[in-house]
Amino acid sequence: MTKNTVDVQNSTEIAGLGRRVLAGGHLTRDEALWLFNLEDSADIHDLLSWANRIREHFKGNKIHLCSIVNAKAGACSENCSFCAQSSFYQTGSPKYGFVDPEPVLEAAEEANRNSITAVGLVAAWKGLNEGPMLDEVCDRIAEMKAQGKTRPDASLGIIKNQRVADRLKAAGLECYGHNLESSRRFFPSTCTTHTFDDRLETIGYLKKAGLKICSGGIIGMGETREDRCDLAFTLKEIGANVVPINILNPIEGTPFEHNEPLPPLEILKTIACFRLILPRQEIMIAGGRTVNLRDLQPMVFMAGASALMVGNYLTTLNQSVEKDLQMLKDLGLDPSWDNHGFTDQSESGGCGEESHQQATATV
Ligand code: SF4
Repeated sequence: MTKNTVDVQNSTEIAGLGRRVLAGGHLTRDEALWLFNLEDSADIHDLLSWANRIREHFKGNKIHLCSIVNAKAGACSENCSFCAQSSFYQTGSPKYGFVDPEPVLEAAEEANRNSITAVGLVAAWKGLNEGPMLDEVCDRIAEMKAQGKTRPDASLGIIKNQRVADRLKAAGLECYGHNLESSRRFFPSTCTTHTFDDRLETIGYLKKAGLKICSGGIIGMGETREDRCDLAFTLKEIGANVVPINILNPIEGTPFEHNEPLPPLEILKTIACFRLILPRQEIMIAGGRTVNLRDLQPMVFMAGASALMVGNYLTTLNQSVEKDLQMLKDLGLDPSWDNHGFTDQSESGGCGEESHQQATATV
C-alpha cells in the first residue's frame, strides 16, 4: 500500500479559509502568510481550487482586459531596478517624446475590436506637474473619451498636488495606474529616487479626485513571501480597484538582470493568495506572464485572476491578443467585462466585490 503523503489537516484548514472568504469574511495576516508559505503541491492545488471558486463567486466568468500605449518612452530620471526605461541603466530600450493623438486613437480602435475594456497611457518619467505637459496629457485623455471606444486609463507617475489629479479626472480619466511594487519593507531595494510614501501620497490625491485605482506590484525581485503578503494587505487597505501582478522578466543591463525566475507554481500560489485576501478586486496578470508561466498561462484564472493585460508590454513582448482571446474562449471565460463603475466591489453590493506591468507599473 502506498503511503498517503497528503496532509489532510492542511486541506481542511485551506477549505475553512476558502469558505470564510466565500461567505464574505476576511483572512488575518497570519492566516494569509500561512497560505503564502504552503510548499506541498497538493496543498497549493487545493488553494488554487478555492481561489477559482472565489473568483467565480464574486466575478462570474467575466474577464477584464486592458492594454497600454507607451506614451513617452525611456530616459526616465528614476532608478527602479527592474525597469528597462531608467536612465541609470544601459538597456537598449527605445526613447521618444510624448505621443501624438493618432497612435492613441488607433490603439483604442484596435482595443475595441478585441473586446479590450481599457487602454492606459503610460509615460516613463518621475511624475506629472502642472504645465504644458499636463495640458497635452489631458488632451490625449479627452480625445480618447470623446472617441468612446475604450475606458481611458493612465499611468503617469507621481502626482504632487490635488490639482493635477482633479485635472485628469476632469479630462475624462476613469482609472489611474500606480503600483506600490512591493512591501514598504522591500521597496527601498527596488528604488531609491523616490519612496513608498511618495506612491501612497499620489494614490491619496487620485482617490480624492474620484479616480479608480489600479495598483499592484512585481514579484520575483528578491522579495520574501512575507513582502508579497504585506503588499496584498496594503492594497486592500488603500482600496485598489484593479490589482496588477507583474512577474519579473529580468532585463539585461538592469540590477535585477540575473534574478532567478520564480517557479510557476509559486507564481500561481501567489495569485491565489491575492484572490483570498482581495476577493472582490480585479486581479490582473500583467508583465512577465508569457516568459515565466509559458504553457501554464491559462492556470492564472484557476488561481483566481479575473483580469489580463493583453498586447505588448512597455519594453517586452507578450503573446498575441488573438491567442489570449482564444485561451479565454477555450476556458469558457468572457472578455466582455463592462462594469466601468466597479460597482461589484462594494461589500454591500450583491454577490460581487472589490488593476501595467513590469515597467508599467511603474511609473
Ligand atoms: S518604473 Fe517608471 S518610474 Fe521607475 S524607472 Fe521605469 S519608467 Fe521610471
